[in-house]
Amino acid sequence: MSALVLVINTGSSSLKYSLVDADSGEKRADGLVERIGEGTGVITHHAADGEHRVERPVADHEQALRAALDAFAEHGPSLHDADIRAVGHRVVHGGARFSSPARVDDELIEAVTELVPLAPLHNPANLEGLRVARKLFPDLPQVAIFDTAFHQTLPEHAYTYAVPRSWRDDHQIRRYGFHGTSYAFVSRAAADLLGRPLEEVNLIVLHLGNGCSATAIEGGRSVETSMGLTPLEGLVMGTRSGDLDPAVPAHLHRQLGWSLEEIDDALNKTSGLKGLTGHNDFRTLEKLRADGDEDARLGFEVYCHRIRKYVGAYYAVLGHVDAVVFTAGVGQNAPQVRARSLSGLERLGVVLDAERNDVRPDRPTVVSAEGSEVAVLVVPTNEEWEIARQTLAVVDAGGGPDDTGR
Ligand code: ADP
Repeated sequence: MSALVLVINTGSSSLKYSLVDADSGEKRADGLVERIGEGTGVITHHAADGEHRVERPVADHEQALRAALDAFAEHGPSLHDADIRAVGHRVVHGGARFSSPARVDDELIEAVTELVPLAPLHNPANLEGLRVARKLFPDLPQVAIFDTAFHQTLPEHAYTYAVPRSWRDDHQIRRYGFHGTSYAFVSRAAADLLGRPLEEVNLIVLHLGNGCSATAIEGGRSVETSMGLTPLEGLVMGTRSGDLDPAVPAHLHRQLGWSLEEIDDALNKTSGLKGLTGHNDFRTLEKLRADGDEDARLGFEVYCHRIRKYVGAYYAVLGHVDAVVFTAGVGQNAPQVRARSLSGLERLGVVLDAERNDVRPDRPTVVSAEGSEVAVLVVPTNEEWEIARQTLAVVDAGGGPDDTGR
């Protein structure tokens, strides 16, 4: 039987899709619809014969998904012949309600809608994706995979913020954590590379992409993570500040008269590496740094220092660490970040091998020195494959929503 899953990831003005074989991870095709609702949309479709780019009006997410289906029809593979088993959706915020993937039905849509206040930037777009995919694929099972679900194992003392009881009880203010599908995929692959059962290994995983986060994983369970109520907390990211004194927004409001929306926007969209260097793309920062740019030098140092601080903190949380694992765009492709962040940690048993570390691997790879007590690994993440796998697992379990973790 086919194991093909159509994976959909909707943003406010974009829709990413891929057709994935959940057994092998093979991507039959993928693509991106950008500039939804901004006049002319741009569709980029990758099929067996290469890349196809089309511009056409895309007013909303329904037209975006229709444009993706047209791209499949025109450039292949034919969805009609593909025998798709299910549609898997990435949903950013599942609150405390979802600790595992769940079948999409009216009740789930209502629950995700209720969570919009916790993720006003993400969940509305994800809901659009659920709505239009149900409309265009009425006969296919649909499954929601939540970015937060992996972290529902956090102990109470790790997810609780020290704030008044009513904030916590009445407004669900707590740490949730994100990048869950990536952590699920990477932690399993890391344990495989170490040749040990996942239940027996302790990992510090650093997901360094546009968004960046760190997670302490004990025997396959997330026990601490750097993102919080929203993806803003923690490491320095492409455009997000990560940690800062919670008094800064009030200070800005008092000093500059900025509204909360303006401050929120600036901390999410024009801070992080962009705020420090003017550029959120790590490759640009590295070119500037090579040219001696002072802002790029400082940006790099701040970025790596924050990672080092979290590695130390999570080392203490776990007590014993088997491996530090780097993943996502920067984690996989920037040896200099791995080297700088972990330099001088020999006393903690972390010893990189400069030559081994000089790689941008496309498969799980050891980059620590022979005999390093703590292994350092680079593990390419594959969130689409993980979503496809989790989607099929729910479908194959055959359960309704009540059997899938709610
Ligand atoms: P997303 O969070 O959008 O999935 P990615 O995991 O693709 O992001 O990571 C994007 C980041 O990875 C960008 O900052 C990009 O500059 C960086 N990146 C990609 N390739 C390289 C490379 N060869 N060297 C350094 N950084 C890279």
